Amino acid sequence: MTIIVTGGAGFIGSAVCRHLVAQAGRQVVNFDKLTYAADLGTLASIEEDPRYRLVRGDIADRATVRRLIEECRPSAIMNLAAESHVDRSIDAADDFVRTNVQGTFVLLEEARRYWAALEGDEREAFRFLHISTDEVYGSLGPEGLFTETTAYDPSSPYSATKAASDHLVRAWGRTYGLPVLVTNCSNNYGPYQFPEKLIPLMCLRALHGQELPVYGTGENVRDWLFVEDHVEALVAVLRGGRVGETYNIGGGSERRNLEVVHGLCDLLDELAPPLPAGPRRELIRFVEDRPGHDARYAIDATKIREQLGWQARHDFAAGLRATVEWYLANEAWWRPLLEKTNALQRLGAARRQA
Ligand code: NAD
Repeated sequence: MTIIVTGGAGFIGSAVCRHLVAQAGRQVVNFDKLTYAADLGTLASIEEDPRYRLVRGDIADRATVRRLIEECRPSAIMNLAAESHVDRSIDAADDFVRTNVQGTFVLLEEARRYWAALEGDEREAFRFLHISTDEVYGSLGPEGLFTETTAYDPSSPYSATKAASDHLVRAWGRTYGLPVLVTNCSNNYGPYQFPEKLIPLMCLRALHGQELPVYGTGENVRDWLFVEDHVEALVAVLRGGRVGETYNIGGGSERRNLEVVHGLCDLLDELAPPLPAGPRRELIRFVEDRPGHDARYAIDATKIREQLGWQARHDFAAGLRATVEWYLANEAWWRPLLEKTNALQRLGAARRQA
C-alpha cells in the first residue's frame, strides 16, 4: 500500500522518497507545497518510477489533504513537511506557525477521519509518523543527553512550532487512538541539503573564498546525523516502533560549530583548488550570535538502538568527507539554487526589538 510522504521534495523527505522507492520498493506519494526549500532535482533518480508520484499541495489546506488521502488510501503518512530554518523563523514566524502547527493539525484530523473508517488489517496497520527535532528540548549544559522523557523547552520560533506539532500528534494518539509515532532527531547533513544550513553554507562559501561567519565564538555543540542514517531510522520506526511512542535519533557525533567549520576548511584545502590568500580557516569571522542560540544539543539514542536495533552507520569524519565530495561533484545541483535565492546570505540576525 501507499505511503504518503509530506515534504518529500525537501532535504530529508527526498532522501526518504528515494529510499522507499528505490531500496524498499514501496509505492510513494510525495505531497509537497514546493516552497523555496524544495527541489525536484533531488528526486530525478525516481521521478520516472511507476511507484512514485508527486502531488503539489499544502498540508494546511484541508480540502486538498482530504482528497489526497481518500484517493491514495495510504497505509502510512510520514510528516516531514515543515518550515525548517531557525534563522528564517527569527525573521518571520508566520509560515512556521501555519505549516508546522496548523498543517500538522489538518493532517492529523484528516488522518483520523480516514483511519476511523478503516477496518481489520488496514486499520491495524495504519501509522502516522511525525518527524521532529531535538530542538524541542531546548539547550543542554556541558553534560547530559536528551532522552525521550526530557521536558520540552524550545527556544526559537521554529522549535516552538515543532514542539506544538509534537504535542498535537501525541494528543491525537491519546485522545482519539490514532496510531501515531514521533521521532526527534539531531542536525542532519549530507547530499542535497539546501545551502542555507551550516554545513552546505560554509562549504560553498569556503569553496568560493568568501568569509565564513561563525555565530558567537563557535562553541555551540550539535550532534550530527548523516541523512541516510536518519532515513534508515525512520524506516525502522515505521516498521517496528510501538504505537504512541517517541524515538530519539542521533548520530553520536557531537561537534562544536567551530570544529565543523575547521573540518570543512581542511577538506576543501585538500579536495578543491587552493585559494591564493592561503588556508581556508583564515576566512573564519566571528559574528554576533543568533538570538536565543541554544548552547548544546546531544541525543541519547539508546531506546531506538535497544528496541529497534538501529544505530548510525556513518561516523562524522567519513560523513563530512562524503558530503564535501558530493557538493564538489554536484555544482549543477547547487549553482541554480544560489542564483535564484540569497542562500549564502545571513538571516535571523534580528535583534530583540523594543
Ligand atoms: P526542508 O526545509 O529541506 O524541506 C521541507 C519541505 O517541506 C520542502 O520540500 C517544502 O516545500 C515542504 N513544505 C513546506 N511547507 C509545506 C506545506 N505547507 N505543505 C506541504 N509541503 C510543505 O526540511 P528538512 O531539513 O528536510 O526537514 C524535514 C523535517 O525534519 C522537518 O519537519 C524538520 O523540522 C525535521 N528536522 C530536520 C532536521 C535537519 O537537520 N534538517 C533536524 C531535525 C528535524
